Amino acid sequence: MESPKPHIALLSSPGLGHLIPILELGKRLLSLHGFHITIFVTTTQASTAQSQLLNSQTVPGKLTIVELPPADISSLVRPDTAIEITICIIVRESIPALQSAILAMTQQPTVLIVDIFGIDAFEIADQFQIPKYVFITSSAIFLALTVYVPTLDGLVVGEYVDLQEPIRVPGCNPIRPDDVVDPMLDRKHERYSVYVDICFRLLMAHGLFLNTWEDLEPITIRALREDIVTFTPPIYPIGPLMRSVGPPIAGRECLDWLDMQRTESVLYVSFGSGGTISAEQLTELATGLELSQQRFIWVVRAPTKKDASATFFTSGNGHDDLSEYFPDGFLTRTREVGLMVPQWAPQVEILSHPSIGGFLSHCGWNSTIESIMNGVPMIAWPLYAEQRMNASILTEDLNVAVRPEILPAKGVVGRKEIERMVRRVMEGEEGNELRGRVRELRSSALKSLNEGGSSYNSLSQVARKWEMSDK
Ligand code: UDP
Repeated sequence: MESPKPHIALLSSPGLGHLIPILELGKRLLSLHGFHITIFVTTTQASTAQSQLLNSQTVPGKLTIVELPPADISSLVRPDTAIEITICIIVRESIPALQSAILAMTQQPTVLIVDIFGIDAFEIADQFQIPKYVFITSSAIFLALTVYVPTLDGLVVGEYVDLQEPIRVPGCNPIRPDDVVDPMLDRKHERYSVYVDICFRLLMAHGLFLNTWEDLEPITIRALREDIVTFTPPIYPIGPLMRSVGPPIAGRECLDWLDMQRTESVLYVSFGSGGTISAEQLTELATGLELSQQRFIWVVRAPTKKDASATFFTSGNGHDDLSEYFPDGFLTRTREVGLMVPQWAPQVEILSHPSIGGFLSHCGWNSTIESIMNGVPMIAWPLYAEQRMNASILTEDLNVAVRPEILPAKGVVGRKEIERMVRRVMEGEEGNELRGRVRELRSSALKSLNEGGSSYNSLSQVARKWEMSDK
């Protein structure tokens, strides 16, 4: 009798930026290898966007989605608790529910895959004596910096951001001190020690998946395998994995509007699943878009007091009256050329529409690969997490994006700079060159995913290992 297929449990930490690639990895393991898949979803409060995403999944019988009960973290976090710490706490508080759910299963998992914030759940893998993997839902350079942080911690005196020289990580282009990931911005902050702890514990995994592909970051991937730190677990670049175009989970009107526009004439503006900008920055952006005289779709959220913040858990729940956020008369004047969408838009469907010519993005890794996979050049406008590093990869290494300068005195990108960036991407020769290069990247990505390609082979290699050890 044929032995049962491996049963892969995947655990997503809160935030759509984690859930989307975890879902895609589960679906790919099912479609390519026929494994049983259970996806556990952690959360702390209902999010409209998350419910819509989960409800929109048409999944065949061998893939089950289990939403763990929302974790009550009210006594464990303060309003100013860093987002990374909050996410780790939610995962930690969800572990008893995860354990009960696994105990109640007739066929228990044979492998556990978590994302970078789910490392506390390694204890579940150890308890059930199954191998544990981490899916780094970001780039190889992010992982390279992460595994190298304990070394840097010993080498660097003072704050990283005060360094006069770029930071050198083996296999990576030098990283500007102020482009480091958020937890490295302040070494005295609790979130730095949480990050360093994650960096160490990551190395206990049986393997690390990456949402990138060999041809995108060959030198960094080689360095990760060979010489950044000893005892790095096996590295498996298996990307780019992204949500495929489907019936839009919300916002059909955006696509109807795009149907009426010329090819490559519209700029899509979005700061990810929860990114927000300040009121002052919102005014500059609105004015810059108007000055550029280009068409745009803008996913708008209420401004925050300060930039670079993420409201991970509120996407889709805000109120929809946008008029108060914009300069006087802006909405009326731009009615013919701009579509304002409150909170959330069907991003993958928008980016794949032929009318889209550019993407002003916060450079979350999912948004980045969605842009590449649709051949859309970008304006790189990073806000938080590892996005500043992603922005420099896109502008300096890959040359598929332009990056605006922030006015040092005001801490915002000015309207003239925005106008200039939009024109660079949407008009003329430079825009065409950016578009040409991003299309080359798309071809290399597709090649890696197809049968015999590097990402396809990488996933098959692990899948074979799991099948062998199950026999
Ligand atoms: N997204 C979307 N509609 C929106 C905003 C975001 O569909 O209005 C999706 C987007 O396509 C991407 C994910 O949410 O898959 C955001 O992930 P990313 O890594 O880009 O950024 P994060 O939200 O984690 O900062």
